[in-house]
Amino acid sequence: METFYLWTIGCQMNKADSERLGAALEQLGLCQADRAADADVVVLNSCVVRQNAEDKVAARLQNLQPLKKQHPGRVLALMGCMVGPKSDDLRQRFPYVDVFMRPQEYGPLLDLVGRRLGLDWEGCVGSLAPTRPNVTCYVPIIHGCDLMCSFCIIPFRRGRQVSRPAAEVVAEVELLASRGVKEVTVLGQTVDAYGHDLSDKLDLADLLGELNRVNGLERIRFLTSHPSFMSERIIEAVAGLPKVCEHINLPVQAGDDEVLGRMRRPYTQAEYVGLVQRVRDAIPGVSLSTDIIVGFPGETEAQYQRSLELVAELRFDKVHCAAYSPRPGTYAERRLPDDVPHDEKVRRRERLEQLQEVILREINSAMIGRVEEVLVESRRDGQWQGRTRTDKIVFFKDEADRLGKLVEVEIARASPWSLQGTLAAGKACSSPRN
Ligand code: SF4
Repeated sequence: METFYLWTIGCQMNKADSERLGAALEQLGLCQADRAADADVVVLNSCVVRQNAEDKVAARLQNLQPLKKQHPGRVLALMGCMVGPKSDDLRQRFPYVDVFMRPQEYGPLLDLVGRRLGLDWEGCVGSLAPTRPNVTCYVPIIHGCDLMCSFCIIPFRRGRQVSRPAAEVVAEVELLASRGVKEVTVLGQTVDAYGHDLSDKLDLADLLGELNRVNGLERIRFLTSHPSFMSERIIEAVAGLPKVCEHINLPVQAGDDEVLGRMRRPYTQAEYVGLVQRVRDAIPGVSLSTDIIVGFPGETEAQYQRSLELVAELRFDKVHCAAYSPRPGTYAERRLPDDVPHDEKVRRRERLEQLQEVILREINSAMIGRVEEVLVESRRDGQWQGRTRTDKIVFFKDEADRLGKLVEVEIARASPWSLQGTLAAGKACSSPRN
C-alpha cells in the first residue's frame, strides 16, 4: 500500500479536511497519486449542501466500482457530509465502499491503513498541518455549528460547535509559516462565534490578535461569518490588525424579513443593512461578499425582489447565489412545501447573477489605474496569479520567480471576475491600508 488519491467537492472546510487527511496518510508513508486508477487508497470527500453536489458524488462513486472490481484490495472510502450518524443506507447503495467516515472522522480509514501496514497510526501521525502546503492554507478553528437554519444540513452532519483551543491553532499556524505559508484562512461554519464554547472566553478578535504576531505570516483571512456574531470587537480587529485582510464574507441569505424568519435567520433585513454600514464605516476599503438563496419555500415574487433590491443597494464584491433545493431531514424539507417551480428558481438565480455581474463590472472597472498589493499564489498559462487584500483575483506577467511574494501591481484591465495588471515596483499602493 503506497499511494492515495483524494477527491474533494464542496466548501473550504471540506478542502481543509482533505488536506489534513492527506497529511496523516503521508505520515504513514503513502504518496499522493494524481488519478484514482493509480492509487491503493481512494477517498471521496463529499458534500450534500445542494442536490447537484450530492449527485456528483454518487456518480463518482459509481465510476469507481469497476476500479474496485479490478483490484479488490484497493481501499475505497467515503468521507464528509454525505455520511450521517447511520450509514446503513449508504452501505446498501454502495456495498463496494470499504469505509464511511463523517466529516473530520479520519480514524476509521487510518485504522484500516495502519492495520494493513502493521503500524499503530496514532503513534505515527503528529500534526495534521499539511506537510507541503501552498502559499495559502486553510486552518479549521471551529468544528460544527450551533445554529439550526431551516434549510441547512450541516449541523446534522458536523454536529454542535466545538472551537479548537487558541494555543493549538497558533502553534499550527506557526508550523505552517515555518513551512512557507504566507496566508492562512481560519475556518468555521460561524467563524465569528469562535470561542463562545471555550471556558476561557477568548473570541475571534483575540485569536486574530495572536495570529497577527506569527513571524513569516503575511496575511490572515476568516470564513464564514454569521451576521449575529459579527461583534464590534471583531470589526475593530479587522480594522486595526495589519495582517488581517479587509474582506468579510457575511451571508444574508434573503432580503425579506418573512423569508428570513422561515429560514430561521435571527436578524432582519434592516439589522443586516445596519451591520454592513458599521463594517464599512470602521474598515476603509473593506470588501464584502454574501450568500443568497432564491426560490426558498413560499418566496413570492415581491419577496424575491427584496433580495434583488438588497444586492443593488449594498453592492457586494461577490454574491454566491443558489437556487433552493430541499435537503432531507432539515426543518424546511419536512415542514415547508417546496412550492417555487424549478424553472422559476433558475430564472430568479440568473436574474440576480446578471445584476451582480453589472455591479461587479462597475466596481472592478473603478480599480483601473490603482496599485494593489498582491500575494502571488500560482502560475498559470505564462502568467502569475494572486489576490489583493480584498480578495480580488489579479493576473500579471513577469519572468522572475514571484511565487509567495507580495508585489505591487498596477491594474490595467478589469472584468467582473478578475483583474489584469503590470508590476509597479516601488509605486505606493492605493489601498488605505498600505
Ligand atoms: S449558520 Fe446556518 S447555514 Fe451556516 S452552517 Fe450553521 S445552520 Fe448551516
